[in-house]
Amino acid sequence: MRTAFSSTHRYRAATFAWKSDRARPELATGKRRIVLAGRVVHHFRKFVSGVPTRGGQRYKRLGTQYLDDEYFNPLAEGRNNFAGRHAYSHVNALCSAMQAYLTIGSAKHLNAATNAFDFLTAQSFATGGWGPDEALRAPDSNDVYTSLTNSHSSFETPCGSYAHFKLTRYLLRVTRDPRYGDSMERVMYNTVLGAKPLRADGSTFYYSDYHFKGRKVYSDRRWACCSGHIAAGGCGLPDQCVFSMSRRACM
Ligand SMILES: [Zn+2]
Repeated sequence: MRTAFSSTHRYRAATFAWKSDRARPELATGKRRIVLAGRVVHHFRKFVSGVPTRGGQRYKRLGTQYLDDEYFNPLAEGRNNFAGRHAYSHVNALCSAMQAYLTIGSAKHLNAATNAFDFLTAQSFATGGWGPDEALRAPDSNDVYTSLTNSHSSFETPCGSYAHFKLTRYLLRVTRDPRYGDSMERVMYNTVLGAKPLRADGSTFYYSDYHFKGRKVYSDRRWACCSGHIAAGGCGLPDQCVFSMSRRACM
């Protein structure tokens, strides 16, 4: 797909990402490291095409250094290491695993993403949402069930659905397995399409509330993270409907 960026723009943007990262090494820790991994690999994909070969190798190293073995290796081996991890960040990071497969051909990272998606499905609500209180849970625990009575923060809907759509687009594109499309559709209809709209004052719908006494309300915070992702998710809806495969459009 062609973009409005010239190769000069791509080169400058990638250089900015490189310099920003080197200047702020504290970002490369913990949760921020996972979030950054998603962003860097995403930008790597967007910008590296058209960059001169030497530059391309440089940004390839920039992207691959954030592929977190501690997170991805157990998943690739079929071991669930979700418990206690921040939900949105670590589901979104699976898109980095898919980029590692698409960009450097790493089968390990494809295994990590497909296994992780199965683990995620096993601890999802009937709506397709996941991560009560923004945390992934230990397999076979009662945490998701008990959250129905002890939490009103069931699913970080705009951010979580954005990550879910991005990941299932990758998985559907690579595997062509329709269950990823089914999952995408389930989450779309049951979560973000039912969100309250973003208001001009920054009032944002944040959590779907699956508590037995659940309510549908705006967050107390203005311009929360979900304010950006509800817009980004809306703009991305056409990408969920049409895929280009071998010069054919697939609906
Ligand atoms: Zn959010």
